[in-house]
Amino acid sequence: VWERCLNIIRDIVEWQPFKTWFEPIKPIKLENNVLTIQVPSQFFYEYLEEHYVGLLGKTIKRELGKEARLEYRIVVENGTPHQHPKTVNMPTQFTKPQKDSEVDFPLTIQNPVKNPFVIPGIKRVQIDSQLNPNYTFDSFIEGDCNRVARRAGKTVSEKPGGTSFNPLVVYGGVGLGKTHLAQAIGNEVKRVHPNKAVLYVSAEKFINQFIDHSKNSIINDFIHFYQLIDILIVDDIQFFARAEKTQDAFFAIFNHLHQSGKQLILTSDKPPKDLDGLQERLLSRFRWGLSADMQMPDFETRMEILEMKMRNDGLEMPKEVIKYVAYNIQSNVRELEGALISLLAQSSLNRKEIDLELAKRVLKSFVKTSSKEITIESIQKMVCEYFDVPYDKLLQKTRKREIVQARQITMYLAKSFTKNSLKTIGEHFGGRDHTTVIHSCQTVKDLMDTDITFRDSVIELQQKVQLAAM
Ligand code: ADP
Ligand code: MG
Repeated sequence: VWERCLNIIRDIVEWQPFKTWFEPIKPIKLENNVLTIQVPSQFFYEYLEEHYVGLLGKTIKRELGKEARLEYRIVVENGTPHQHPKTVNMPTQFTKPQKDSEVDFPLTIQNPVKNPFVIPGIKRVQIDSQLNPNYTFDSFIEGDCNRVARRAGKTVSEKPGGTSFNPLVVYGGVGLGKTHLAQAIGNEVKRVHPNKAVLYVSAEKFINQFIDHSKNSIINDFIHFYQLIDILIVDDIQFFARAEKTQDAFFAIFNHLHQSGKQLILTSDKPPKDLDGLQERLLSRFRWGLSADMQMPDFETRMEILEMKMRNDGLEMPKEVIKYVAYNIQSNVRELEGALISLLAQSSLNRKEIDLELAKRVLKSFVKTSSKEITIESIQKMVCEYFDVPYDKLLQKTRKREIVQARQITMYLAKSFTKNSLKTIGEHFGGRDHTTVIHSCQTVKDLMDTDITFRDSVIELQQKVQLAAM
């Protein structure tokens, strides 16, 4: 009978939900028109009831007649459901995420009990929150640009789930501090409420995890895992656009958490209403909470940010230089920091005090001039990004092969795209002389003839430089 029911359902329900929600069901017995089916968890049962009760009812009645009824049996896998507080296993120590995509964490629940929802008396979930401990409220300067978001964040971290700011959606352009603020909330919750399970995840990682789990038909594990969290932070939700299945899963997680009074914190690069490609039902739920925007800090706040960064690193520079930097970098805070770092790097490599003249030279590559002039600095920046090499390494006397090659390519590009003399180019690489530059250019030419991968990289970079100049 169940087989026949499944055949009917299969025609109606899409393939993916069918696999997720119907294939795991086991028919147990049929007695007096009562069909008992076994489902793997309480959550599973609730989901079926919420989404498919009508369909199931109709199908059963069609097969077994009007009097037919359906009963569920919820099974707890692997026995011993009651003893242990549940533990969610995440990688041990915090490692500072360099790039989101590099850090991966497993979504396994380390416990004989597969389904946490039938365990009474759950105390706490232990997870690695994936937070960068440096992103705190203390290191997040308040200004008109972010006041509402920062204060709402502070409130949320004191009473997670207990305010009307749920979800808290923080939105704004790149490099304006969304990730910093979202993580500051997470860190603060952990400080104030050490027993709460906080998890930070980028939307991209969330999507990848979802895809991995659906490949292995274990979407429920994925959903269950996320439903254990007390404070869920999802960064850059604009990436959910058009990821329909992921949005379905996120919707289920969102609802469960919200209903259980758990806190959601979301960030996005645009206001929720402009998030094309996100399901309306998600957007409507975002309206339940508070959306707060982040703007570029004004001049005074930029000064404060720079001064704080300097203080934290035990560094000093003339006030006029700080002013100059704060005044000229108007794009975003990440660039502001980038300018500061380049300035410090240039100063220490050239063994030159930071002064206005140096600042002017270094900032040329950061300040968007109307002519979009290509400078040695802008090429250095591009190459560093391309090879993921830190800017200061490019200038130092490192002999690591990738870095040496990146440096040689940069010199080669600087020679072909700028009018700078070999001497000037050399000076931009920690004071190397012009013969080094000649040698580098020759090496690049030679390697391009012999090494295809190398050649492709150089060509791609040449195109990037050209594009940047347009
Ligand atoms: P977004 O996520 O919006 O792209 P980030 O949170 O990554 O931006 O911020 C970029 C950089 O700027 C980070 O290093 C962050 O610490 C810094 N930053 C942004 N806003 C502030 C602020 N108000 N005070 C101090 N640092 C800030
Ligand atoms: Mg971010």
